[in-house]
Amino acid sequence: MSVVRCACASRLQLGVVVRRFVLFDVDGTLVRAGEAGPASFDRAVASVLGVTVTERPHMAGKTDHLIVGEYLESLGVARTDQLMAALLDALADALAEADRSGELRAGGSVLPGVNDLLKCLADDDRVLVSLLTGNVVRNAKRKMDVFGLGAWFDFEVGAYGSDHHDRNCLVPVALGRLRDRRDVTLDGSDVWVIGDTPRDLACARAAGVRCLLVATGGYTFGELESLGADATMADLSDTDTVSKLLTGDL
Ligand SMILES: [Mg+2]
Repeated sequence: MSVVRCACASRLQLGVVVRRFVLFDVDGTLVRAGEAGPASFDRAVASVLGVTVTERPHMAGKTDHLIVGEYLESLGVARTDQLMAALLDALADALAEADRSGELRAGGSVLPGVNDLLKCLADDDRVLVSLLTGNVVRNAKRKMDVFGLGAWFDFEVGAYGSDHHDRNCLVPVALGRLRDRRDVTLDGSDVWVIGDTPRDLACARAAGVRCLLVATGGYTFGELESLGADATMADLSDTDTVSKLLTGDL
């Protein structure tokens, strides 16, 4: 741990010692984006390639980069860096349009307990909260803003689907930003990944950090509990228990 010298997040004050770094997944953990989320992939592929999409890959826990690559594979289209960049840009544009039209807000929701938990964590300056998500950064921020959660996160130290196609490489990205942008270095036991799929657990394990799984996405409590994460919960609605779990020993 070390002293924060760059107070970029409004709630951080000069001299506050950060002791916990909490990284939330987005879809199925904080919010449900509804049909606008997967539909944005279909629209991005259709707009760039001029094809009608009839089959969607399974998306839970995957990075946007990986999902787009699976669309190309199913369509028999060769992947190039230029094409991937165009598709990911189109994906962000498609979600922006779903935001402008009201589709994203109307079809989505904040998951149980999320607002209260984020407020509780924000009240403790020793806890720094950001995102670790497969969403490209534009879409991660948009989803948080649309559902009124954007103020709770220090986005500059998060890791996103636009940073790497492999989710297992994202925790080191976030920890590198925490070190470089906030001058904070923590032990793995002081870092939590919170997510809703086996892929969230895998990325935490790959980096030697802790993981809380919540059964608010596409997996049942029983399916997640059997994976042996550090903790598994039905949802995040028990603010006291979850916050104590994340900030224990402070
Ligand atoms: Mg998720």
